[in-house]
Amino acid sequence: KKINVALIFGGKSGEHEVSLASASSIYQFIDKQKYNVFTIGITKEGNWLYYEGDVENIKNGDWEKLSNRNVNINLIPTANKNIGIEFEDNRFEKIDVLFPVLHGPFGEDGSIQGLFEISNIPYVGCGVLSSSVGMDKLICKKVFEQEGLPQVKYTYTTKWDFNKNKDKVLDEIEQKISYPIFIKPANLGSSVGISKAKNREELENGINEALKYDKRVILEEGINAREVEVSVLGNEEVCASVAGEIIPSKEFYDYEAKYLNESSKLIIPAKIDDEMMNKIKNMAIKAFKSIDASGLSRVDFFIEKDTNKIYVNEINTMPGFTNISMYPKLWEATGISYTHLIDKLINLAIKRHNDKC
Ligand code: ATP
Ligand code: MG
Ligand code: MG
Ligand code: MG
Repeated sequence: KKINVALIFGGKSGEHEVSLASASSIYQFIDKQKYNVFTIGITKEGNWLYYEGDVENIKNGDWEKLSNRNVNINLIPTANKNIGIEFEDNRFEKIDVLFPVLHGPFGEDGSIQGLFEISNIPYVGCGVLSSSVGMDKLICKKVFEQEGLPQVKYTYTTKWDFNKNKDKVLDEIEQKISYPIFIKPANLGSSVGISKAKNREELENGINEALKYDKRVILEEGINAREVEVSVLGNEEVCASVAGEIIPSKEFYDYEAKYLNESSKLIIPAKIDDEMMNKIKNMAIKAFKSIDASGLSRVDFFIEKDTNKIYVNEINTMPGFTNISMYPKLWEATGISYTHLIDKLINLAIKRHNDKC
């Protein structure tokens, strides 16, 4: 019997479009002999809609107006409704496993994972705690610090503090770290809201920009570094892929360099020696375990050009997942095809659910 998978895409975050691209790829490449796929989109306003039709319309955003609004998606246990998908002709489909391919707040930060725990259905990817810790750059840095994982110098500010005493906050930042400074909303991804400041004026503008996305902002000392990433897969038994290197087409790997122009390059495997490769892979596994991750994560690193020193930049619990994204590409280079990877993730989801005490 086929397994019913609900593929959930879109979402309220600034990474909505990235999710549409990831979901389209998964839909295209998932093993259809083994899985029935039901596609559920979440609009930017947060509305859940059932969509059934051409996969092209997921990517281009047309799914929203083509969705079937008479289908009920029941995820909250109540006395008179079964958990699953209820069609207008009374047909009912039980969901065996949920696959939230959502990036950023509400999808990657533990919110939706909490709902799935309440639904008591297996779901792909990290659980509540690891999702929320992984998404919050500030908390995550503290956890990594505790584990002895090397990181660049950083500090943070909040909307409240910044608006109350701008000059004092800027003074303190300049005392703690030096330019160039990377300014990031604490909770986001795809470089949304991130900027690089070379002076105080750019710092102030950058903080105001980041504060549009989150009330907490992290500030990091910018380093001149190569960027490498590692894919991690597993629950208790965890594996790391080879590392891959990114050559951004711009000054840094911003939203445009990631998704809008095609000239950023991925070099897989990264051209680093075996010793460095092993060190980075082990650090990726350590980072994964430190937040109690499960299923998948992509861990991003910097290798400082002058010193060859390795720094952990961040962990992404639901990394970009198109068939040409770094996460699946790294597994492909390590011997796991995209279709097989999707299969493995679904199996890990079911296994975690069954192993729960
Ligand atoms: P992702 O899409 O990987 O989730 P993100 O929005 O979480 O991205 P980061 O990976 O933290 O953002 O940063 C985005 C990019 O900005 C990095 O890939 C890198 O090019 C640049 N960058 C960030 N922090 C630094 C730093 N401290 N020094 C140098 N470059 C940096
Ligand atoms: Mg990230
Ligand atoms: Mg991310
Ligand atoms: Mg990153």
